[in-house]
Amino acid sequence: MSENLTFFPEYNTSLEEISEYIKRIIPLMSKHKIAIDPLNFTVFYEYIAGRNISLNHEIDMLLSTQTVFTSKLNLNLFNKHICNISLKSLEKINCNLLNLINNTSEAIDITGVKANAATIHFQSYSKKLEDNQGVSDIKMILTEIMTETLNLAATSSILQDQLDKSAIELNLLRQELAETNEMAKTDALTGLFNRRTFDQKLDEHINTNKQDNSELCLLLLDLDHFKKVNDTFGHQVGDNVLRYTANLMKQHIIDHHYAARYGGEEMAIIMPDTPFNKAMEIAEKIRGALAKHPLKRKDSKESIGIVTVSIGVSSLKPNDSIETLVERADKAMYLAKKNGRNQVMAESLVNLA
Ligand code: GH3
Ligand code: MG
Ligand code: MG
Repeated sequence: MSENLTFFPEYNTSLEEISEYIKRIIPLMSKHKIAIDPLNFTVFYEYIAGRNISLNHEIDMLLSTQTVFTSKLNLNLFNKHICNISLKSLEKINCNLLNLINNTSEAIDITGVKANAATIHFQSYSKKLEDNQGVSDIKMILTEIMTETLNLAATSSILQDQLDKSAIELNLLRQELAETNEMAKTDALTGLFNRRTFDQKLDEHINTNKQDNSELCLLLLDLDHFKKVNDTFGHQVGDNVLRYTANLMKQHIIDHHYAARYGGEEMAIIMPDTPFNKAMEIAEKIRGALAKHPLKRKDSKESIGIVTVSIGVSSLKPNDSIETLVERADKAMYLAKKNGRNQVMAESLVNLA
């Protein structure tokens, strides 16, 4: 199945919400003297919409330190948090493809011109032969035909070489494009799917589920007291803890599950075709594996202590939308926090609490 490569997040925002956002975006951008061009606007639209947690985290920090939002800074924010694809690598692929097309068509043109000239020469030889030439003339014509044929063979072997080269380069470009496509779906820090892919996959699976009625579960995971890890050991160590948690998740899920970074220190797993008790079991295994040992810094081996997670699990009901399914997992996760953290909570317990 081929997927479209998109550079923009998908927006399913109502008109009322958009006009609310605009009322806040324009004054904010004006206050910070940020030019209202499409790129800057997108960055601040995402900020005000508030669903891109890592972007909001960075902008909050920049606002608090009164940093000037230059076009370069806004472009960096856009590339880092919104358009998680390396535009440079796409530009490179595009440029290589153009070179490839130019070289190949040049070789085809040269061969074409030479082949046309050869056709005219061959016609003139055939005309000469029709005119009953003598033996020596025929010998000369044969020599000319041989030379012409050898030239043509040489030209067509140049074309063959160019076509062979083009085939190799095309394969490389296809590989690069597949890697770029993969990058567009992945969160750079954790290697999990990014939020955009999470939204897409959940939407797809909710729709298929309406047709086949199989079981689908959603797991939302949030690191406990993660701010303290950052404050005590620094952001870099915090990033490593996020990577470690993501790897643990990858180890425990089933092949057809999708583990994604939902935002900031929140992760999610979409579990198609999975009964609720199996989803709870996987959630419990992830929680238990993290809570089992204290983590150590890679560099100094200093202990970071035990890092724990709170997890909420919901399962798809007939009239669910993405929002209602996520909301129930979110509520269950917050109940796990309220109950003391380091635990897995099923959605069914939310109303009993
Ligand atoms: P709780 O148990 O209630 O979830 O507490 P918490 O400290 O985990 O939650 P809070 O929302 O107060 O803080 C979340 C922290 O996660 C704050 C933010 O700096 C950090 N964070 C978000 N994204 C990243 C990231 O990409 N890297 C690092 N190192 N930290 C991040
Ligand atoms: Mg959180
Ligand atoms: Mg947290």
